Amino acid sequence: MLYYNKICLGKPEQMTQAVFPEKTHNHDICRKDALANAQRILAERKGRLTPDRQAVLEVLLASHRAQGAYDIMEQIDWRGRRPAPAVIYRALDFLVSHGLAHKIESLNAFMACPHADHAHKPMIMICRDCSQVAEFDAPGIERAISKAAKESGFVPAETTVEVAGLCSVCAGKDAA
Ligand SMILES: [Zn+2]
Ligand SMILES: [Zn+2]
Ligand SMILES: [Zn+2]
Repeated sequence: MLYYNKICLGKPEQMTQAVFPEKTHNHDICRKDALANAQRILAERKGRLTPDRQAVLEVLLASHRAQGAYDIMEQIDWRGRRPAPAVIYRALDFLVSHGLAHKIESLNAFMACPHADHAHKPMIMICRDCSQVAEFDAPGIERAISKAAKESGFVPAETTVEVAGLCSVCAGKDAA
């Protein structure tokens, strides 16, 4: 299920508990596999990974941190070109529309999606200490929201579930 994190953790059976990558994980493998996965998904859908889109995706895959559009722009070597921010926003829109990235509303930032193969509603945990972000599965939350909406006659258009706190590594550091 969690491609990107599966590689990181190497323990698929524990994925829903340990969604944040371990400190010692081989991120190089994790990043390369995620990029290959994205290329495969886009090839199947005949989506074009233009150099700008790929550059933006690679910045997102470079870490497990959320990144804002301007941070992304600064990390790309534009070789003398000075693109308008709209170039980044358009690339991000494309990646989000294909499920390869998610927008984190509370941070106005973006993250690469570890499991873009299937449609899903991301629920995101954000570490306030190291700024890493991870997706988690909590179908109960979705059910509770639709039930509450139904009972109150509310028609939900978009659900955003973002939880700020400490990842397991940072929480452990505090306890030590
Ligand atoms: Zn990684
Ligand atoms: Zn996702
Ligand atoms: Zn952390």
